[in-house]
Amino acid sequence: MNTVLSCSVGKCVHNINGLCSAREINVGGLKANTSSDTQCGTFAEKGLKNAFTNLANMNISGELKQVFAKNSIEMSPKIICNAENCSYNNNRICNAPNVQIKGLRAQMSEQTECETFIQK
Ligand code: SF4
Ligand code: SF4
Repeated sequence: MNTVLSCSVGKCVHNINGLCSAREINVGGLKANTSSDTQCGTFAEKGLKNAFTNLANMNISGELKQVFAKNSIEMSPKIICNAENCSYNNNRICNAPNVQIKGLRAQMSEQTECETFIQK
């Protein structure tokens, strides 16, 4: 099952119109009990340097699929997550059908969070 991820972290280099163009993301929150204890560790601030250094993690085929399949969301990264207290965590892989990463003004990973976190 492919998780559909949406993200409000506008300053992240991977964010394209509220979707995440990374092939894979790492969500952190080892001892998390609430959403605010989690963060997207793959966040990288928009800018020329990060645009190049993060190119290898870009989900190019997903992005192209989205261009061709208008209105259908095909761009979804694999989510590796260490928030073991979350009910959606299955051996450090997220199995939620939809994930929302939040951080409208975030300028670093610590200011982002997984809003979908639900305590076990
Ligand atoms: S903050 Fe994380 S989920 Fe959001 S676009 Fe960046 S890498 Fe993707
Ligand atoms: S929903 Fe849970 S398992 Fe999935 S990324 Fe968020 S915190 Fe991790």
